[in-house]
Amino acid sequence: MGFSSALQSRAAHEALIVRQDAELRLMETMKRSIQMKAKCDKEYAISLTAVAQQGLKIDRADEMQGSLISKSWRSYMDELDHQAKQFKFNAEQLEVVCDKLTHLSQDKRKARKAYQEEHAKIAARLNHLTDEVVRKKSEYQKHLEGYKALRTRFEENYIKAPSRSGRKLDDVRDKYQKACRKLHLTHNEYVLSITEAIEVEKDFRNVLLPGLLEHQQSVQESFILLWRNILQEAAQYGDLTADKYKEIQKRIDTVIGSINPTEEYGEFTEKYKTSPTTPLLFQFDETLIQDIPGKLQSSTLTVDNLTVDWLRNRLQELEGAVRDCQEKQMKMIEHVNGGSPVANGSIISNGSNTSNGIQSNKDSLCRQSKDLNALRCQEKQKQKLVDMIKCALNEVGCEELPSGCDDDLTLEQNFIENGYNNEQQRSNSTSSPGLGIMNELMRRGGVLTLLRGRGRHFKRKSTPQPATPMTRSRQGRFNKLQPRSQSLGSLSISLSTNRPLYEEEWFHGVLPREEVVRLLNNDGDFLVRETIRNEESQIVLSVCWNGHKHFIVQTTGEGNFRFEGPPFASIQELIMHQYHSELPVTVKSGAILRRPVCRERWELSNDDVVLLERIGRGNFGDVYKAKLKSTKLDVAVKTCRMTLPDEQKRKFLQEGRILKQYDHPNIVKLIGICVQKQPIMIVMELVLGGSLLTYLRKNSNGLTTRQQMGMCRDAAAGMRYLESKNCIHRDLAARNCLVDLEHSVKISDFGMSREEEEYIVSDGMKQIPVKWTAPEALNFGKYTSLCDVWSYGILMWEIFSKGDTPYSGMTNSRARERIDTGYRMPTPKSTPEEMYRLMLQCWAADAESRPHFDEIYNVVDALILRLDNSH
Ligand code: ADP
Repeated sequence: MGFSSALQSRAAHEALIVRQDAELRLMETMKRSIQMKAKCDKEYAISLTAVAQQGLKIDRADEMQGSLISKSWRSYMDELDHQAKQFKFNAEQLEVVCDKLTHLSQDKRKARKAYQEEHAKIAARLNHLTDEVVRKKSEYQKHLEGYKALRTRFEENYIKAPSRSGRKLDDVRDKYQKACRKLHLTHNEYVLSITEAIEVEKDFRNVLLPGLLEHQQSVQESFILLWRNILQEAAQYGDLTADKYKEIQKRIDTVIGSINPTEEYGEFTEKYKTSPTTPLLFQFDETLIQDIPGKLQSSTLTVDNLTVDWLRNRLQELEGAVRDCQEKQMKMIEHVNGGSPVANGSIISNGSNTSNGIQSNKDSLCRQSKDLNALRCQEKQKQKLVDMIKCALNEVGCEELPSGCDDDLTLEQNFIENGYNNEQQRSNSTSSPGLGIMNELMRRGGVLTLLRGRGRHFKRKSTPQPATPMTRSRQGRFNKLQPRSQSLGSLSISLSTNRPLYEEEWFHGVLPREEVVRLLNNDGDFLVRETIRNEESQIVLSVCWNGHKHFIVQTTGEGNFRFEGPPFASIQELIMHQYHSELPVTVKSGAILRRPVCRERWELSNDDVVLLERIGRGNFGDVYKAKLKSTKLDVAVKTCRMTLPDEQKRKFLQEGRILKQYDHPNIVKLIGICVQKQPIMIVMELVLGGSLLTYLRKNSNGLTTRQQMGMCRDAAAGMRYLESKNCIHRDLAARNCLVDLEHSVKISDFGMSREEEEYIVSDGMKQIPVKWTAPEALNFGKYTSLCDVWSYGILMWEIFSKGDTPYSGMTNSRARERIDTGYRMPTPKSTPEEMYRLMLQCWAADAESRPHFDEIYNVVDALILRLDNSH
């Protein structure tokens, strides 16, 4: 059934128009989608080209020469590039398809108009006749009524008139005849118009309308045909199974298939083939013990009362390890052989048929046999140590153990020179040195009681008089000692030991070793400090003598303190003895104490600081508002958690070490460090507004552009100063800046800073603030001040976005990827154009194209000036 017979009604005609409108809309939608698809495909082609280019950035140096895998990869990437080009071509063709759709839509619109006009035209004639019939009918009715009335009148007059004549009757007759004539004429017109209407209606229904509809159907069907062809074309350009792609895929498969594991290293092995390596020789260095009388023998274990427990423990551990190795081997063999251990401990192949299966089975056998060999080696190595210890213990048998503890030997064993290599011996010894000094002191009532309680006066041996007690003033107490070259006779000094050790000017608390080494510059310079090892506190005498030497103060069984010489009741006395006697601390080191080095200005005492309230939480511990007892100054104090390992504590103090040398209004100031006891602390100026990031977020409504620019200028001033000092901050971000009164910004948090022109990170990049870090630092670990410039750009963005998170909605790795392909964050709302331009300059991919802080400062300063003048 076609349009001509089925769609004649008015409703069908209207529905056909509506349908055509809908089709036009569908066509528009298709056009938009195909346009979008073309755009997507183009972008995909661009990304794919980038992927291929990235993939081709491979090492072309000699190392991979002859490698099939490298060659295949290159071909693979080339094919990817072809694929990208094909995608691009197809995308362009899709755009042509879109144009065709546009034309079709225009034609269809015209056809719709023509149909409507034609339909209206033929319908108009019929409508006109219909109206005519109605009109004629009403005329007919009107004349009929007139005729009837006149006829009645005429009949009345005719009856009444006696002679059937008269003027009145003639008049009525005349009117009656006229009306009769009119009626008959109207009747005829009515009849004619009905006849015409019948004819026109018949033609409309049987000829004109069907003709129009039939034509319309054929027009619409031809549009559909064109439409279908266009869609077919569109689909064809998106067909991923098209021959072109198949060919590319086939070539990729072929190049990858050409990788052959057995040939991969052929050329390489040929090039580097060498004869097997000669064994390394490990020999006991006899010179180590040439000065040590008796007990320590080369390549022989020493068994005595100092070592026997340790040896037994070690033996147990090693035997356990041997058993462990054996069990693991048995399990492995059982597992591979399907649960049945085999007598000779070998692995039997259980075979597999498929080629992949054979390969993976072969690999897994190879791996298991390698693991098994590794376990056997481990077992053998441990067994060797077990035999050696057993043999040594057996030799001693039930005899009383030799004492390792005659005075000379004890001292030799307990002094640590140039490092803490005797740790194990110390902690396992049965004699008192095994206990840390602080533990020992605690056991006997604590350091303070012990040291305070004595109240001794210690006189220089060679100087009989005077025995003046040392003043409690800190100022240069030891420094008042005259140089040794001067007559000893003229030097008279005495020592009062009734103060705690930590009050001595030359006691530096837990100052890290790097700092200690920095303080001791000339032979004979010395200081005393504390070190915490394995949660045990030890007091160490550090001396500059042919390098730096560190001696642990030993505690005797009676609770006295000593090095190689006689014991003393307090550490102060021991140190004074060494100083006055001019005897070497140990014979081997020859180190003589000449000049005590006192605490520096910034080495505060923990008791100088009163912590008031917590104001923040840092990476290492809480941050407090505090008061300096001496000056009543409000300060900020960063504390370091006691439980952190030494390495972390050193890192914590790094910030203090760096800050110590800087003095700039936009760099947070260091007041001191407290390392006399735990927790170690860094004391800094208190910056009242706290962290910039929090400040921005809290005050997002009240900040003016002028204030934001001022913040940028402050940060640039601080960074300009740091750059001039060759300091790379490495963690510049709003969270690491502080805000003071008047919105002034200070750079803080120097935990990651380095004082170098260029700093290359080699130990992994675990805690890197990725979204703030320049690409060259992320990709190659290379840090310069220009990396700080990149971070400064992000800081500017944070300031203008009032504390938003950069690259929000992206993970670190996504942000990194996008930056590498040229993406940069858009400008935050209401940022002055020049400031955004500056941000973009800071984010130049090539570090050398970024401005230095000097330039940044000048630009921001000039912009502020301009702004101020314009108001
Ligand atoms: P960390 O370097 O250990 O991560 P931060 O320097 O980030 O520690 O300090 C943590 C928080 O303590 C900061 O966000 C800030 O709120 C507060 N804070 C740190 N230093 C000061 C200071 N000098 N004045 C005021 N508040 C500070």
